[in-house]
Amino acid sequence: MSSIPMRYSEILVVGAGPAGLAAATAAASAGAQVTVLDDNPGCGGQIWRSGVASANIAQDPAREATIRGFRDSKTSLLAGRRVIDSGPSQTLRTYVEETGVIETFTWDRLILATGARERFLPFPGWTLPGVFGAGGLQALVKGGYSVAGKRIVVAGTGPLLLAVAAHLQEDGAEIVAVAEQAGLSSMLRFATKLLSHPAKLMQGARYRATLNRVPYRTGCWPVVAEGSAKLAGVRLTNGTHTWTELCDLLACGFHLVPNTEFAVLLGCKLKDDYVAVDPTQKTSVENVYCVGEPTGIAGLDAALVQGEIAGLAAAKRETQAQALFKRRDRERAFGKGLDRAFALRPELRTLAQPNTIVCRCEDVRYAQLQSQPSWTDAKLQTRCGMGPCQGRICGPAVQTLFGWQNTSIRPPIFPIPLSALISAPTSSEITQLQETL
Ligand SMILES: Cc1cc2nc3c(=O)[nH]c(=O)nc-3n(C[C@H](O)[C@H](O)[C@H](O)COP(=O)(O)OP(=O)(O)OC[C@H]3O[C@@H](n4cnc5c(N)ncnc54)[C@H](O)[C@@H]3O)c2cc1C
Repeated sequence: MSSIPMRYSEILVVGAGPAGLAAATAAASAGAQVTVLDDNPGCGGQIWRSGVASANIAQDPAREATIRGFRDSKTSLLAGRRVIDSGPSQTLRTYVEETGVIETFTWDRLILATGARERFLPFPGWTLPGVFGAGGLQALVKGGYSVAGKRIVVAGTGPLLLAVAAHLQEDGAEIVAVAEQAGLSSMLRFATKLLSHPAKLMQGARYRATLNRVPYRTGCWPVVAEGSAKLAGVRLTNGTHTWTELCDLLACGFHLVPNTEFAVLLGCKLKDDYVAVDPTQKTSVENVYCVGEPTGIAGLDAALVQGEIAGLAAAKRETQAQALFKRRDRERAFGKGLDRAFALRPELRTLAQPNTIVCRCEDVRYAQLQSQPSWTDAKLQTRCGMGPCQGRICGPAVQTLFGWQNTSIRPPIFPIPLSALISAPTSSEITQLQETL
């Protein structure tokens, strides 16, 4: 058995992004004992991934308020812990990269705040060196990768494109163009909706002002990433004309997909691919709440208010939580508007050619998948989705291309070394540990 004792938390939060931080702070301020787990080395999630420990936080009021609130709440943050599996009766297992061991946790109430990831769609050349996920490139830059002087095309769909382009330009890149696949009419309708969200409108306007010399092409998408050993340019189309933009890097992402794997493993019901929650953010599984992007891609404000509601509700302050429902519903409606505005155009399903790689972990090409009747058959016959990313990248792609749903989520939900797996406590050992608490 593992020598690591089981840890107990009255409220355990998985994910230290904005949603998890807001949940933890609200629960702690209501008097609950809270622990937060995250696989990153620090808190902040995707949007606030860097500089959390720096003196720089005053630059962003939402970040400053959230991080300060969290720090003041004296909540315990256990970073560098990746939740890989659930266990018997309100327990879970995490993998600690630094020590290579599995730790176990037990809770009275669990709040899932596991965020989202980018959606990638295969097109010829998308696996060439020099092609990055848009948010992925931004994360690398936040981590110190220099894009100074690099010519970058930003392409795909979603509000993240503008944020990334503005950020990369501020870091010295030359943004050649931003190609947004959503059409102009769709974007104009979305902009009209933003009038009732002035802060978001202002943020969009700030990004556009930063990028005032950069062409922002709506109804425009990448068809080929060109180059032999590495990227040399991107062929773009607007459906009528096709042309090549020379560049060093392509930052490309097609909006976001929710990280629902752990929720599914726990047995939480999904609705329209998102974790289904009640007004207090409670899932279909008793004592389990879910907040932020897994319940709908709706941005920072939604993540914060949902986190606060779940934190209060989990700390048995439902009446206080109710006061926030209206704000949450408004943000959720904004999220639905995002889904509509940035819905994928059918042409994107036709970009992959027979030899285009779809599953890059297992080197599976489009032609190998075309004859498969389902995701399960594709896995069995081609190993699509069975590599290290466990279908996180190709899963949403094959869902878009073939309509296949990934219905089989198995532990560990992230790859871990066999040595850690072997030394992990079994379910009966976990039950014994729980009894000693
Ligand atoms: C790559 C990327 C970049 C983005 N950049 C921006 C941006 O620049 N501007 C912007 O406005 N919005 C950005 N967003 C959107 C932004 O993340 C959301 O609007 C919102 O802030 C999400 O908050 P959250 O707390 O729900 O999720 P996140 O911020 O994603 O936080 C989730 C946290 O959970 C952790 N986690 C997930 N699974 C596990 C697990 N099994 N075990 C342990 N920890 C786990 C993650 O490491 C992460 O820290 C980005 C999204 C992505 C995917």
